[in-house]
Amino acid sequence: MFLFLARFQKQAENRKETNKSNGKEKMRLTKIVATIGPASNTDEMIKKLIEAGMNVARLNFSHGTYDDHKQTFNKIRSISRDMKKHIGILQDLSGPKIRVGVIKDNGISLAEGDTLILSQNESDDGTNNRVYIKLQNFHQEVKPGERILLADGLLELEVQDIDQTDVITKVLDGGLLSSHKGVNLPQTKLSLPSLTQKDKLDLEFGLKLGVDMVALSFVRTPDDIRNLKELIAKAGKDLPVIAKIEKPEALDRINEILFVADGIMIARGDLAIETPLEKVPIIQKELVRKARTAHKLVIVATQMLESMTVEERPTRAEITDVANAVFDGTGAVMLSGETAVGKHPDKVVSQMVKIVKEAEKTAYSPHGDIAPYTDNQNIELAAANSSATMANAIKAKAVFALTMSGRSASLLSCQRLGIPVIAFSAQNKTLKKMSILFGVHAVEIQLFEQLDEVITECVKRAKEENLVVPGDYVVVTAGYPFEEKTETNLVHALKIL
Ligand code: PEP
Repeated sequence: MFLFLARFQKQAENRKETNKSNGKEKMRLTKIVATIGPASNTDEMIKKLIEAGMNVARLNFSHGTYDDHKQTFNKIRSISRDMKKHIGILQDLSGPKIRVGVIKDNGISLAEGDTLILSQNESDDGTNNRVYIKLQNFHQEVKPGERILLADGLLELEVQDIDQTDVITKVLDGGLLSSHKGVNLPQTKLSLPSLTQKDKLDLEFGLKLGVDMVALSFVRTPDDIRNLKELIAKAGKDLPVIAKIEKPEALDRINEILFVADGIMIARGDLAIETPLEKVPIIQKELVRKARTAHKLVIVATQMLESMTVEERPTRAEITDVANAVFDGTGAVMLSGETAVGKHPDKVVSQMVKIVKEAEKTAYSPHGDIAPYTDNQNIELAAANSSATMANAIKAKAVFALTMSGRSASLLSCQRLGIPVIAFSAQNKTLKKMSILFGVHAVEIQLFEQLDEVITECVKRAKEENLVVPGDYVVVTAGYPFEEKTETNLVHALKIL
């Protein structure tokens, strides 16, 4: 009890310190990703979403045409340019998502004990309980005894037998099955590649548009990410790649996936179908912890403010869910249907901002504890850790990261400092890709040559933007000399005059 009170008192003191910083409102640290869809792809709504606090716009390639995505992309770019905001655009590739075909009328009703045949015949529309499954050679993928989940896990089947190309199943949990519903195979080792032909074409299209980061759904192995990175490199680009974690196989190989990916998304929608749903909260905590330890970015996604798709206010459970993701230490939180097809996308973002900011008052204090440096002779990690230690020692108001590739900012972001990382870059693509990084506020500067001149320029820009005021202490970190491949190696402290 006393311990709790003491902790609460300390947090209250931290809150006072946090909030009075320069007399300015404290900057939000946790980033917000919002999915753009039919409810939000107008000029007016995109502007409102940015004003409300969207940092990254997600284009979901499971839906929409190329023409839709291109128009949305161009709108986001032009509106954010006019608003002088560095908004990232995330392309989300659908991966090997399996769906049923067209089902007659409004769907068929299935009861426990019924037989359902999953066929390879496109004309099977539910008549005689025969349904087409949109995956070539599906009958060669599954085995008797395996479970199949349909329509977000609403219906559950068990494979009884394979008869030529027909998969004969028994309904364990019934319900209504309608056209194009998703199919999950939690017990099946799919031979299908994680990067499908559709994904490759979508990626080519996204890279030509100029997306800032790419996520891949249903990742199972580190090679899925390697293959995707190879394609991006072949196109002459270097973009952050985010592995969506939603399959048990990905959980089994999470350390290797984290090693190759730039970050992970905890895709709780499919994850809660593919794994026992009661395990999702603890998986979330574990994945956030592992991503942070691996110095990779992490997004908590799906149904965070789901009821606001229709309602004006969130449920108490949703408020607590968003706050708990912040307490877990996530770098970003994501909105899906809420902003893509919901009734009031901008209100959802505003609500999320409020919850996140309130949770951050308790979760992050400026100059809080820093994990000790334990890696062996790793210059860039040592520099990030030393910057954090120095920031604490001098009670810095911010850390300045002078960055070409965004690497310095990304490593600092993983330190979860509780004070902003002001990341200065002359590279447009870097400014946009840093939009997803926890605690990072990107500022464009032109000059990137002599160190002393660059620092003077950064101080000037930060003062102009009211990010620092005379008397503030800041820590500066960079990879010097300024070249794309130089690792972060410099830590410097100064007082703003
Ligand atoms: C999820 O399953 O939680 C997810 C984010 O993926 P999608 O929205 O593509 O289904």
